[in-house]
Amino acid sequence: MHELSLLRGVIDAVNESVPGRNVLAVGMKVGTRSGVDVYALRQAWDLARVDTTCAQARLDLDIIPAAVWCPQCEDTVEIDEYFALRCPKCDTPTADLRGGDEFQVTWVDVE
Ligand SMILES: [Zn+2]
Repeated sequence: MHELSLLRGVIDAVNESVPGRNVLAVGMKVGTRSGVDVYALRQAWDLARVDTTCAQARLDLDIIPAAVWCPQCEDTVEIDEYFALRCPKCDTPTADLRGGDEFQVTWVDVE
């Protein structure tokens, strides 16, 4: 499972940033175009954290919607992750992604 190996990497990174501490919660930003399945990610968390410093930790996900810059609207517009890269308002093609590919730890809460 793709998400499980990603989370093992996350837990390794958390261990390095707060070595030996009992982790209570891990906050992450996950973009809707990051290729990560949020449902699978939540399930994989329960497996990944077993016997680690994150064993008691809650996973707090901040889902970042994908957006593109539309030169026609001169605005950043949110797109559906399954849509082609075009502005949902005026249908102008644009590949100028502004967010949505995030997959990063943003904060860690320790005891
Ligand atoms: Zn537009």
